[in-house]
Amino acid sequence: MNTKFDVIILGGGSGGLAVAERAVSYGQSVAVIDGSALGGTCVNRGCVPKKVMWYAANLAHAAHDASEYGIKTHISGMDWSRLVAGRQQYVTDINHYWANYVKELGITHIQGYATLKSHTEVAVGDQIYHAKHIVLATGSRPIVPPVPGAELGITSDGFFELNHCPKKVAMIGAGYIGIELTGILQAFGAQVTVIGLEARPLELFDEGLSTVLAETLTQQGVELRLGFMVTALSQQDSGIRVSSKDGQHLDGFDAVIWAVGRRPNTDNLGLAEIGITPLRSGVIETDLYQNTVVPNIYAVGDIAGRSPLTPVAVAAGRRLADRLFGGQANAKIDYDLIPTVVFAHPPIGCIGLNETQAKALDTVVTVYETAFTPMRYALNKKGNRTWMKLICAGETEKVVGLHVMGEGADEMLQGFAVAIKMGATKADFDRTIPIHPSSAEEFVTLKRPDRVYYPKINR
Ligand SMILES: Cc1cc2nc3c(=O)[nH]c(=O)nc-3n(C[C@H](O)[C@H](O)[C@H](O)COP(=O)(O)OP(=O)(O)OC[C@H]3O[C@@H](n4cnc5c(N)ncnc54)[C@H](O)[C@@H]3O)c2cc1C
Repeated sequence: MNTKFDVIILGGGSGGLAVAERAVSYGQSVAVIDGSALGGTCVNRGCVPKKVMWYAANLAHAAHDASEYGIKTHISGMDWSRLVAGRQQYVTDINHYWANYVKELGITHIQGYATLKSHTEVAVGDQIYHAKHIVLATGSRPIVPPVPGAELGITSDGFFELNHCPKKVAMIGAGYIGIELTGILQAFGAQVTVIGLEARPLELFDEGLSTVLAETLTQQGVELRLGFMVTALSQQDSGIRVSSKDGQHLDGFDAVIWAVGRRPNTDNLGLAEIGITPLRSGVIETDLYQNTVVPNIYAVGDIAGRSPLTPVAVAAGRRLADRLFGGQANAKIDYDLIPTVVFAHPPIGCIGLNETQAKALDTVVTVYETAFTPMRYALNKKGNRTWMKLICAGETEKVVGLHVMGEGADEMLQGFAVAIKMGATKADFDRTIPIHPSSAEEFVTLKRPDRVYYPKINR
């Protein structure tokens, strides 16, 4: 058995596999250590199974809306087991794909969980492996706060293990995972209460977007209990009770889901022994080239604490391999202008600065905003409105932020992201012929700014 490699990667998820694939293409001998099926969080407990559920939820909405378009439907319920079985088969197929692909490429997959022994040695059980370079890509896990009764709740991992759709759900957390799971459960008929410490859902996003999201969720029948600090869960005859610091109780839940953030998997890696001290959040600090403080040890993906998204982990991993083995001394990921989609119902897409951040720029800022009923609801009338905001900076009106919630936002964003990354201005948007009839065309037909901020007046 070979125990010496050019590169050993801890974690076979998005970031780890990206490093492995790129490193082997440069002729390096590579081992990936992971005790779980290859693919990591994204494939097994994240983006992939979530998106399958999101599609299913979209179909549930469409089935309800179909009759107004003259399509006769009879909905007699949903077969949750069938959906979950199909979803898990899809996930398993991706796991098999990765297992075979890794073998074909000549990458060694070591089954198990690793700890660091020195800056060139890694242990899996009693076996020691040696490498010139070690990449840490062990991802993150959901946080469960240490409150009494916390174990009565599940996390996003547990959501993917549910064998039925719960009827009454407390979603604790109004960040992107909480909002996405809420949309899915609500579409399947669950009564969902979103509970958050913060004052608005998706509080790290544009404030206008949060407002529209809150209105949309309320219209859909989701209850919002914000500014609510959960201090205990308890089992009552009527179901699970969620209690707050100021003595409020919410009762009767048959499922409680913790969606309060994720913590990097850095606790049991033996980091202290080799001189790496993670931050209190568990994040391993790196420079922009993914270097840790220990030479030849690198960190990519969620454990490095910047934009915890699959494409970010992948890009960071590829650039690292390009730099170390591909002769590209300056290769590094550009963390600026990362497009993000929240797969809510309807979906949300954002890139760049939000209005609050833009207002702080030392230049004139123009904000264009619109809201309308998309044509998808031409016959239904009662459908979700679409909301859009375009934020421009300077005399040239360079587009520095684009935010949208509405049908098609998820697919709309990527093309606009290319234009914005290239430095597009409002005039470039205006010169572009609209696609009609579409929602996206509204972004290239926005007329007068709704708000203008002048730096001197605002300081
Ligand atoms: C519910 C949910 C939905 C999401 N949706 C999206 C989305 O739509 N779009 C998006 O871009 N991102 C999404 N994400 C985030 C995305 O999944 C992560 O950002 C991404 O998977 C991070 O990749 P990574 O390589 O850092 O870690 P991971 O993919 O988590 O891989 C880490 C791997 O390391 C292994 N490991 C852990 N400890 C050890 C050890 N000691 N030794 C060896 N191996 C170890 C684990 O088993 C795991 O396989 C979602 C996440 C969740 C939870």
